Amino acid sequence: MKVGILGATGAVGQKFIRLLRDHPWFKIEGLGASERSAGKKYIDAANWIEDVNLPSSIAEMTVANCKPEEFGNVDFVFSGLDSSVAGEIEEAFAKAGIPVISNAKNFRMDETVPLLIPEVNPGHIDLIETQKFTKDGSGWIVTNPNCVAVPLSLALKPFHDAFGIETVILTTMQAISGAGYPGVPSLDILGNVVPFISGEEPKIKPETQKLLSDLTDGKLYEPQINLSATATRVPTINGHMIAATVKFKKTPSSIDEVKQAVLNWENPIADMDLPSSPKEVIKLHEDNRFPQPRLHADQEGGMQLHMGRLRESEVFDISFVALAHNTIRGAAGGAILNAELLKVKGFLG
Ligand code: NAP
Repeated sequence: MKVGILGATGAVGQKFIRLLRDHPWFKIEGLGASERSAGKKYIDAANWIEDVNLPSSIAEMTVANCKPEEFGNVDFVFSGLDSSVAGEIEEAFAKAGIPVISNAKNFRMDETVPLLIPEVNPGHIDLIETQKFTKDGSGWIVTNPNCVAVPLSLALKPFHDAFGIETVILTTMQAISGAGYPGVPSLDILGNVVPFISGEEPKIKPETQKLLSDLTDGKLYEPQINLSATATRVPTINGHMIAATVKFKKTPSSIDEVKQAVLNWENPIADMDLPSSPKEVIKLHEDNRFPQPRLHADQEGGMQLHMGRLRESEVFDISFVALAHNTIRGAAGGAILNAELLKVKGFLG
């Protein structure tokens, strides 16, 4: 299929290009960015920060304006647009009959738009049928969650299924790449921790509740979770880590029962064999030193969720640490997996 990338010059856009280089189903046919970049060759418009060579076929492509009429030859677009412009641009593409698979926050909480992690809520793609961007249903939007809601929801899903989630208190340790490029000033972050990320904490609870919702008769029924989050920026490059303490609705008999809930959890898309699916979605580490961003964020192509330090809590039921690659599983890789699921389910033709 022919795909376009909106926001192709940014940190997430570059990750899309890297991950789609050798993709068996999707081929990049269009690149879009701001008018600062439009009209330039990609190699001149983007400051390439990936640690693989920029494919020469992409380097020579001309960057377009993010206007649907400049993307007439694509089957759908991925969006890594800055949220200040993503709302208007993504809506214009959907209205022009070009499906949008987005990383931006603008449509995540729209009740007709799936907020999708294929292993958590694959059935939510049916919400697409309720969208009204085009009369014939050809244009629609699917989003993937914030890069903290991704590891949190993946980690909570087996517990939600087995015991129900009542309360979560968490602190995040978020990598610098989560702030895009050029991102956080080096003097703020080198040898330091910044205990605030603007706009981050308020997204975590609503997105997690939406992800864990039941979809019945076209309507989402959200679990009510008490959730308090503190988001911090730490001097790692890739991989957002979460330290969480959780109270369940139903008390487990032992920590072993909790571990079994993770180990026995069944990945609902396991038999689809999607190209970006990790073989083992949740890796449960027994070694108390793990997971670590430098050792584990890139494993299974950056698509694996790492969980460790799973133990009884003296305050609630359990505590654990979770880690996932923020620009792969938490952004571009997650969006590509969404596209793969949507293709197999027939939404992309
Ligand atoms: P970024 O590095 O700042 O890139 C932003 C992109 O948006 C660039 O390609 C930029 O093009 C384009 N853009 C800016 N203004 C535009 C305009 N007026 N018209 C068209 N294009 C415009 O940001 P990022 O980190 O890649 O994040 C992109 C999106 O993904 C954001 O919505 C972010 O919240 C979300 N996200 C990021 C992460 C992460 O870990 N970084 C994770 C999940 C979700 P120019 O180069 O031409 O300015």
